[in-house]
Amino acid sequence: MLHYKFNCRSLLQATMFSIGLAAPLYYSYYTYANASDELVDAIVIGSGFGGAVAALRLGEAGIETIVLERGLAWPITSAQDTFATYRKPDGRSTWLSPKTIMFEPVPIDIYTGVLERKDEYGISVLCGAGVGGGSLVYNGVTYQPPHKLFYQSLPRAISYEEMDKIYYPRVRAILQPSVIPEDILASSFYQSPRVFMEQASRAGLPNHLLDIALDWDIVRQEINGTKVASTIIGEIWYGINSGSKKSLDQNYLPRAEATGYVKILPLHIVTLITEAPSNSGYRFRVLSNQINDSGEVIRRKSFACRYLFMAAGSMGTSALLVKSKALGTLPRLNSNIGLFWGDNGDASGNRTGMPPNNPGEGGPAVAVIEHYDNPISPTALVTTPIWNAPEGTLPSLSMGIPPAVGKFSYEAATDSVRLFWPSEFLEVQKVKQAAEFTYSLLDRANTTSSSQPTTMVTPGLTAHPLGGAVLGKACDFYGRVLGYRGLYVVDGALIAGSAGCTNPSFTIAALAERCMDKFLTEIPERRFQNTPIQVKRNL
Ligand SMILES: Cc1cc2nc3c(=O)[nH]c(=O)nc-3n(C[C@H](O)[C@H](O)[C@H](O)COP(=O)(O)OP(=O)(O)OC[C@H]3O[C@@H](n4cnc5c(N)ncnc54)[C@H](O)[C@@H]3O)c2cc1C
Repeated sequence: MLHYKFNCRSLLQATMFSIGLAAPLYYSYYTYANASDELVDAIVIGSGFGGAVAALRLGEAGIETIVLERGLAWPITSAQDTFATYRKPDGRSTWLSPKTIMFEPVPIDIYTGVLERKDEYGISVLCGAGVGGGSLVYNGVTYQPPHKLFYQSLPRAISYEEMDKIYYPRVRAILQPSVIPEDILASSFYQSPRVFMEQASRAGLPNHLLDIALDWDIVRQEINGTKVASTIIGEIWYGINSGSKKSLDQNYLPRAEATGYVKILPLHIVTLITEAPSNSGYRFRVLSNQINDSGEVIRRKSFACRYLFMAAGSMGTSALLVKSKALGTLPRLNSNIGLFWGDNGDASGNRTGMPPNNPGEGGPAVAVIEHYDNPISPTALVTTPIWNAPEGTLPSLSMGIPPAVGKFSYEAATDSVRLFWPSEFLEVQKVKQAAEFTYSLLDRANTTSSSQPTTMVTPGLTAHPLGGAVLGKACDFYGRVLGYRGLYVVDGALIAGSAGCTNPSFTIAALAERCMDKFLTEIPERRFQNTPIQVKRNL
């Protein structure tokens, strides 16, 4: 796998002189004094949507690539017990925490589980952790924003026509999402989305079924008892044990590995990025901790590469870049690093006073109400069955288009990067008010003598963090980080705060495809030196 190794001490000393910032480099020097760099053409940090796309396209181009992923791989077992369940949670549910972070807290063993909750200033954020990133924990909603809302979230330099004709279809061809088949929707498990859509139609609100990256044949097998009941009983966010979820470890990532050029290293947490010395032939050093499945550091490792793809998600990529800028190890990052973050307008809506609808079953989120003409701000509501929701309620998630006013900062005292979200800003509050307005139409139109629905809208927790290294600000319009040749962002950090009233993974993956197309047609070495990239066939 390695081209060659060179001594870390000399590399660090050379780096120290080359960028003239001794103090921050002592930090990495002491941490990594005895390590040797592993050398590779490309490194991808993170294996979620952006990382999986990057890995596949790099592998297909014959570029030797290592994917560094902090979490574990989660292959579906024949016993269908890969993941923890809501009903009986254990450490597999949660990233390095002594208690569960969803529903009522339950004590668990500290483990490198699939779901992390980050409690930041003004907001809490949910993220996936593991080979496949957010796709391990997501609902599978594969949702393309409409043309009319696309440019409320993305810059005009991104052509919607091009995304619509080339990049969304490219992702769709691999994920193969589809709407819930009629026979499954008609089953008793899926009463709540039926009620949700009936009520929307009664209120005159546009609604439809969503494309979901799910194998519905496996869901049928859950219904007929030949697979373990998981999707149908709402067991989604800790992973689906029946294997119905088409997570990235079922499609993009194995295809990337099958090229022979891509190697995924689980349980590797990247801690810092530095410049490599200019005479080394490499551009970046990536410092990482290899951990065991309880999160203990078992080895420090450092890598050097020519091309570095940041795909640790909005939270992870922003944290690494903000820290590397603050410590002076990537001093040429511009002042937009860590800015333009938003929560996608996420808020949970708890509807009470509802007619019977079996609200805990029938996962994942199969239907949407699109209230784009909301006079306050465009709003979309998605059904989200919650396994322990009592009868008479109906949980859903609202999404909108908030201003991207969140910001990451490095805190030296704790050596950590924190997110600040001004939840009290009037423009941020407007998104909640818009959701309340849509729910009020829904509730009013569905009030009868036997049911009087009302809805409580609660923001403050998002599963859709977006921004921090945004297109046209910290990066150009192809994810190329300004100030650093060879450094790219390909994940949710590129998008300023919202995805046009949709769940964002489809747009993240499609933008990553677009960035990779550009990278592969314009690799600087090819253009300027006309020499092939050095590759090794077998990692
Ligand atoms: C419960 C839940 C449900 C969701 N449902 C949907 C849905 O139905 N549809 C939808 O579109 N979106 C959904 N999302 C959001 C979706 O998962 C994210 O938008 C998407 O995964 C983001 O893609 P990404 O490439 O930016 O990052 P991610 O997919 O988050 O991938 C980042 C990867 O980087 C790794 N990483 C982070 N830091 C480091 C580090 N320092 N070193 C090494 N590795 C690191 C992480 O472990 C992770 O694997 C959901 C999210 C959650 C939490």
